[in-house]
Amino acid sequence: MLVKQIWTDNAYRNFNYLVACGETGEALAIDPLDHQKVLRAARQEGWTITQILNTHEHHDHIGGNEVLVRATGAKILAHKNAAGSIPGVARGLAAGDVVRVGKSVELEALDTPGHTMCHVCLKSHTDQPALFSGDTLFNAGAGNCHHGGHPAELYKTFSEQLAKLPPSTLIYPGHDYIENNLRFTLNREPDNVQAPQMLSRLADQDPGNAYVSTLGVEMQVNTFLRLTSPTVIAKLREAFPDLPDQPDPRTVFLKLRELRNGW
Ligand SMILES: [Zn+2]
Repeated sequence: MLVKQIWTDNAYRNFNYLVACGETGEALAIDPLDHQKVLRAARQEGWTITQILNTHEHHDHIGGNEVLVRATGAKILAHKNAAGSIPGVARGLAAGDVVRVGKSVELEALDTPGHTMCHVCLKSHTDQPALFSGDTLFNAGAGNCHHGGHPAELYKTFSEQLAKLPPSTLIYPGHDYIENNLRFTLNREPDNVQAPQMLSRLADQDPGNAYVSTLGVEMQVNTFLRLTSPTVIAKLREAFPDLPDQPDPRTVFLKLRELRNGW
């Protein structure tokens, strides 16, 4: 499996992706908003885009579909319930469905509601797994729930699916938000050990050659995966004095999501 992360350099800081089969050169484009950059990258690598996968229905993820389909004839794949909100979906995906790219690549669909209710992540069947997480899991952060989402569903997706993936899983998110998110981590957990080092290392990174984290790293720096940290809980009780001494992880997640909105 070959992966190319494409930095759009737009105001929303989107990442687009190409996932290709090394044997056949067939490629899947994930959320190819910047169709020009995606097409150029495919051409440079000698790859043929045959499929498009939209993680969810927001415009900054589907806005490149039309031009890319016209240029390549690629088939659009998305969550099975997204047909009403994404024009031209040829294949609706349910949890466990496998997307094949060429001969050698298998990507498994995860049904991951929360940011929107029609959101899929893709997990690769490779020795070291990779997760294309769209707007659910970001580096050191979690997706918002403002536009058709639900915080309680996002918590379920995190706790029942994403947090259970192998720690070695590579994380390929839909946006570059790492710097802001690490600042949120330090605001919520000032004694976090890894976040300050990571922030000083990555604060002026080139998103065109971005650091790729793993789930194991996220477990150390992502507040939304650190729901039992005593510092996270103590700081949260300063903001929400009515919280119990030992709040359950779901409550912690929902309060963090609420705080992040106004941050
Ligand atoms: Zn979105």
